[in-house]
Order: sequence, then structure tokens, then C-alpha cells
Amino acid sequence: MAFAFMKELLVEAKRNHYAIGQFNINGLQWTKAILLAAEEERSPVIAAASERMIDYLGGYRTVVSFVDSLVNELNINVPVVLHLDHGRSVQSCFKAIDAGFSSVMIDGSHLSIEENIAMTKEVSDYAVKFGVSVEAEVGTVGGTEDGVTGGVSYANVDECERLVTEANIDALAAALGSVHGRYYGEPKLGFKEMEQISKVTDIPLVLHGASGIPSHDLERAIQLGHAKVNINTECMIAWSDQLRKQLIEQPDAFEPAILLTPAIHAVQEAVQQKLKEFGSTHKAN
Ligand SMILES: [Zn+2]
Repeated sequence: MAFAFMKELLVEAKRNHYAIGQFNINGLQWTKAILLAAEEERSPVIAAASERMIDYLGGYRTVVSFVDSLVNELNINVPVVLHLDHGRSVQSCFKAIDAGFSSVMIDGSHLSIEENIAMTKEVSDYAVKFGVSVEAEVGTVGGTEDGVTGGVSYANVDECERLVTEANIDALAAALGSVHGRYYGEPKLGFKEMEQISKVTDIPLVLHGASGIPSHDLERAIQLGHAKVNINTECMIAWSDQLRKQLIEQPDAFEPAILLTPAIHAVQEAVQQKLKEFGSTHKAN
């Protein structure tokens, strides 16, 4: 297994003011698109499986095997992190670590800060034995993910500091106005709070729900300490738009490879575009 550990990549990215992209995987071909995009751009990349997608993808060990096999078969030489996105329980993070994920997110953001710290610490105490990186969250990212729909609630600076120091994490998702899914209207990110949290915690920050955030806002968020930016919706929209087009243009086609390949190419293009925006191209050496 040759997955990269996330911590070193993020520290290096934060120091040099660029970000590593996290792209969620939605199947084997989708993963291939992400890996080829990263290799083409000579960029490190984080391939992530959201916990709610694990059953759909065939289980933790299946995900580890097919991502690992693709890295080898496609001769991917850039660093690839395999990350569990929005882990909902300590047990699911343990399962991911045991299966071979090199990074996990434990999302206790819906709990009280005390419970969040306790749960996160349990994960990081276990993860550290394997060198696995841990991401945790404070505040609420808006929109719907993992079956929970909610409004935005900004991360509290003191809570962020407590989570970082008491739970020994490697990356912090501090919710500051971003939304999972589509944005309806202009995103309003809390840049002042961002600067403050980055300074106080001195840890790489993670921007969830970054799809649809304009380049100038992304750029500013990266300059203010975001070293990991999560993209899923934009890739899914690129994929589904292309697939719809294909179905209309070729009403008689029925072979999956014919119908799906252009959509997968659209995902690869979207990923490459994002890697350029994040400034991580040619950072793989
Ligand atoms: Zn998220």
C-alpha cells in the first residue's frame, strides 16, 4: 500500500499558500478520472470516500483495493491520500484505518464541544499508531450532506482552539459560511473569522462545500490558511450534464462504456481545472 499521509502534504501546502484538492469518489471509473487528472497536473491529490457512500462503493476494503490497484495499474506517481470523508462514528473511523485508509475525518460538529473533543481524541489516539491523519470539524457547513440538512453556523474560535489542542488533530474544518451541494446566491465566507482561527490554531484549515465558490474567494481562503479544499458537487454536475447530453444525442446507445466515458472525461477536466485553481499543479515533486 502506498497511500500518502495527509498531514505532511497539508503543512507544506499551508506554508507555501496553495491547497490540496479533495475529490469524492463515486465509483471505479470516477476514481480513475481523479487519479489521471492529478498525474496530468503533477499534483498531490486526496481521493475521499464519504461514509454514507461506503456501502454503495462496496465496503471499506473494496475501496482500499480498487484505489490502490488503480494507482499501480495507471502508474500514478503523484502522492495520493485515501481519506474517509464525514466519518460519523469512532467505529467507522477505526474500520477505515484498519482497511488501509491513510486519513480520516471524524465529524462531531453536531455534538457539544466536549463530546466532539472526546470522540475526536478517541480517533486520533488510534490513528497516530498508524501514522494516519485526522481531520475534525467545528460549526455547521450549510446544505445537505449525509442526510442532515441545516443552516450555516459559524465555528467558534475558542472551540476551534480547544479541539486542536485537546484532541491532537492534523486538519481543522472550521465552518465559516460554506455550503454542501449547490449555492443559491453568493456564498458569504467569514474571512475575518478565518484569519483569526488560522492564527490561533496554527493548523491547516479545510474548506468543505467549496463547489461553486468563486475563484477570488477560494484564493483568499487559501491565502488565509486553507490547505485542503473539498470538491464534490462540481464534479457531479459536470458528470450528469455530460451524461444527459450523451443520452439525448445517442438515443440508441446502450453500452455503459459509450454512454459513460464522455461523462468521466468531464470529471477529469473538472478536477484538472480545480487543481490549477488551488495552485497545487507541479507540487508533486
Ligand atoms: Zn463536507
